[in-house]
Amino acid sequence: MKTGIELITDERQRQVDAEGWTPEHDDKYTNDELPSAAVSYALPDGDPAELEAERKASKSLAIIAIYEYLTGSKDSDADCARALGIDLERVQELLPETKVEQCTVCSTWCLRDERGVQDGDFICEDCEK
Ligand SMILES: [Zn+2]
Repeated sequence: MKTGIELITDERQRQVDAEGWTPEHDDKYTNDELPSAAVSYALPDGDPAELEAERKASKSLAIIAIYEYLTGSKDSDADCARALGIDLERVQELLPETKVEQCTVCSTWCLRDERGVQDGDFICEDCEK
């Protein structure tokens, strides 16, 4: 499985290959143009397919970042949100997609294993033994 860094590198490469977002490309914008280009992404009259692609890319990067941060740690989702600079609400919304769950016994975040779920509480493989 690829690491988060590899996935992010791949996504950046995709942007360069598919969208032509090279550093030179970025440089040719003046200070006024780049922020307005960013704003145009947020406006509903942009190309819907492009907007959707952009939204998905940033969402998947957030999921990867949350996954990387939490796996093996005992931090709370609030700690994660603070460390990554993502809203806690957003972290909680994306959490199911990271496939990590916090063990109710040792508080370690582990890859969710359905066999470890007892009465709705998740217990990691180590604590189950
Ligand atoms: Zn545990």
